[in-house]
Parts: sequence; C-alpha cells; structure tokens
Amino acid sequence: MSLKVWIDGKLLDKDDAKVSVYDHGLLYGDGVFEGIRVYNGRIFKCEQHLGRLWDSAKTIRLAIPYTRDELRAAMEQTVKANNFTDCYIRLVVTRGVGYLGLSPAKCARPTAFVITDTIEMYPKEMYERGMSVITASVIRNHPNAISPRVKSLNYLNNILARIEANDAGVPEAIMLNHEGNVAECSADNIFIVRGGVVMTPTITDGILEGITRNAIIDLCHRDKIPCVERTLQRHDLYIADECFLTGSAAEVVSITRIDGRVIGTGTPGPVTKRLHDAFHRYTREG
Ligand code: PMP
Repeated sequence: MSLKVWIDGKLLDKDDAKVSVYDHGLLYGDGVFEGIRVYNGRIFKCEQHLGRLWDSAKTIRLAIPYTRDELRAAMEQTVKANNFTDCYIRLVVTRGVGYLGLSPAKCARPTAFVITDTIEMYPKEMYERGMSVITASVIRNHPNAISPRVKSLNYLNNILARIEANDAGVPEAIMLNHEGNVAECSADNIFIVRGGVVMTPTITDGILEGITRNAIIDLCHRDKIPCVERTLQRHDLYIADECFLTGSAAEVVSITRIDGRVIGTGTPGPVTKRLHDAFHRYTREG
C-alpha cells in the first residue's frame, strides 16, 4: 500500500502528492514547516509545534488558512491513514502558487501538506559510542535577516554546514552565530555539561528554539540537574566534560569529538546517558 500524503484537505498516494512548480515554497523557499514525532499513537508536544509554526508564519507574514485544530486533525488523519503508531510528521505551509516574481501578492492561497513517514535516525552505534562533529565555516542566520527562530523552508546555510560535515567525514556540524558564539548544529540544538551543570545557548544566540531542547531543560528541572541557558564559545565546547545534541528526529545523541578534539573521556558521559534515557521514557511513557 502506498503512503498517503495530506495536501489541502485531500489524502493522496505519495506518487500523486505534488505541488506546483509555481509554488513560492519551491521557487523562493517561501514557507514554514515543522518536524514532529508520533510516539505510541500520540503526537508529541503537538501544541508546542503548532505554536512554533504559527510564530514562524507570523514573522514571515503568512496567514495559515487553517485553524490549529484543523491542522492537528489533518496530522492525525494522515497518521491513521498510514497505520502508523510511531512515525515522523513533516508539516509544511508554503506561500502557495503564484507567479515568477518575488511578491506574494499573486499567491492566492497558502499550500499546506502533511507527510508521515518512518524516520532515519543516526546509526545505533552513534547512540552507544557518540558522534564526531566539526564546527562549520558558514554561520547561522543573522537574527535581523530571517531569524533563526523561524523554521523556514530556506535551510541553505544549514545545508552548506552539513556539506562541510560530509567533506570532513562526520555526520553533523556545529554552527556559530554572527558574533562567533555557539548557536546549534545544522538540524539539532546543542548542550554541554561542565562540573555537573548542563548548559545550552540562549534563544537569542542564533538558534531555533527546539521542542526537544525545551523538554530536556524541563527534565533537568524535574530531576534537579543544574541547567542554565547561556552564551557559549567554541572554547566552552572543547573543555566540556560532556556534549550532546537534541532534536525531534535524533532525540539525544552524545558528541564525543569536536574539530578533532576529544570531549571529556571520549565516550558518552553519565549526564548525557541519564538525559537520553529520561527523554526516551518521557516520550514513550508520557
Ligand atoms: N535546530 C534546527 C536548525 C533544526 O532544524 C531543528 C529541528 N530539526 C532543531 C534545532 C531541533 O528542534 P526540535 O527539537 O524542535 O526538533
């Protein structure tokens, strides 16, 4: 059975699920999206994802032509149509079909679609042994350009960072911000642990405010693990006891090498393991 994709109220077979070449999402990266997980048949942090989607849309001056309840129902309907209990959801809203000029004035109505699929996580041994990463030369968006807090369809800086990672033979790259401070990875947030304190860049340090990041901060508070949001420099990464990344698809992955330097003991550290396990339980058991 072919996967079903929801496009503006219709469930279509994957091969028939198409958007126009005149859609400004394709022509200009003019749109916003979310990457969401379903665990045990429940959409994880659905309200937070919809909230971030609406915030992103507001900044790019895109009026989503659905209510939050309607988009939640569209996601639930698509998950059900594909018989998934655990999957990844890609929710996308573009400016819609227009003409070849930049102006969205000719885009009559935004296009929305929902893809549900299995997700590609990193290989199992990376969760057990940790991951090597590099810092990329390309920086995260300047906050006064399109803010990195907007989850827009334009990921070119992040893609260039990922190509640098590929060139270096590693799966991820850390991106700095316009001031040279640590922002995040190309598709994940970053944390370090030093002296028992968990630290992560603040939301004004050029990051996407990750839903997984927020859940990890909450779990630290719940479990009385000291946790602070603060500006980090590359030096802080190199001298960290532990480092890990977080994201909806990756969940929690230990980083054990950065730019050729071994981080801590070079194996996943105790705080990372604890938070990885706590997050795993939290998502699966609620
Ligand atoms: N930063 C970037 C740039 C991302 O694209 C993502 C999502 N893949 C994240 C961080 C992590 O966010 P979340 O935990 O909401 O998936």
